[in-house]
Amino acid sequence: MGLLAVLASPLVLALRRVKAADITDDATAVEEKLRAWCMVIDLKKCDGCVGLGIPPQCTQTCILGHYVPQGMKWIQVFEASLGEGGSYFMPTPCFQCENAPCVNVCPVAATYHTKDGIVLIDQRRCIGCRFCIAACPYHRRFFNWGTPDLPPEATLKPYSPEHQSPAIKGTVMKCDFCPDMLRQGQLPYCVTGCPRKVLYMGDLKEDVASNGDEIVKLSKFLADNDAYRYKEDLGTQPRVWLLPGHGQLIGRKPDDPRHLLPTTWPWGGEGYDRQPGIDIWKESDPWTWEARV
Ligand code: SF4
Ligand code: SF4
Ligand code: SF4
Repeated sequence: MGLLAVLASPLVLALRRVKAADITDDATAVEEKLRAWCMVIDLKKCDGCVGLGIPPQCTQTCILGHYVPQGMKWIQVFEASLGEGGSYFMPTPCFQCENAPCVNVCPVAATYHTKDGIVLIDQRRCIGCRFCIAACPYHRRFFNWGTPDLPPEATLKPYSPEHQSPAIKGTVMKCDFCPDMLRQGQLPYCVTGCPRKVLYMGDLKEDVASNGDEIVKLSKFLADNDAYRYKEDLGTQPRVWLLPGHGQLIGRKPDDPRHLLPTTWPWGGEGYDRQPGIDIWKESDPWTWEARV
């Protein structure tokens, strides 16, 4: 029943119309494919995958799907302190800000908004100045210091900013909301890879979102669950909403002592190598973030 519900969902039907629109010149169809992609992260269901004894699967499936270089976590799971004691896990992709500081500072327009509202990077234009990394208040951009040692499959598809593969030395990378998959009627890797169905891909225009198991009316889902956007006061207008919680819907207690298991990369190389001591999440964030992996 769950699968049937998904196949008949407004989001999937909408995604199919997008695909159909791609193969016609009809002006109405072109109008139809405009979307306003967003993501909802239900923290009430996230346990960092520790209950299953595995590393965060959102991070892992993103790495495998995009051939993400060693060390980068385009969606990174942080463990944060609850004000009243205990902790919760927060999966953190690029927030696809509508007023994106990273886009505003790029001197060569290598990073830009698509008409669907996704922030992409064209690594063929990127000059590696890293202004965007400094400008992102969410620390969601990564620099390729070396040539990643990727498998041959990484080069099967021609390069596109929509999947950023194969990675290019001396350029910046980040979560791209998997736009090539959305166009084919598929949900992003992290959404389908999450065993707890924490992540929902949504369309603000059609007011619908899906985690692959259920379909929700987006506006009601956000209102009913006290949704918030991280650091919204900065004026970045993130396209990612968070539903507060600590995994209680799947039985996690806030004082659960288990921590995240380490993320792994099936390939090596010298791609990304963050220097210790410059993690702004640890040093300057008032929420006392702790990256456990
Ligand atoms: S979002 Fe899902 S896959 Fe990611 S850490 Fe939470 S439960 Fe695991
Ligand atoms: S989260 Fe950072 S990288 Fe992503 S759009 Fe916002 S400012 Fe840019
Ligand atoms: S939306 Fe795509 S690129 Fe972004 S974290 Fe999920 S799988 Fe990775």
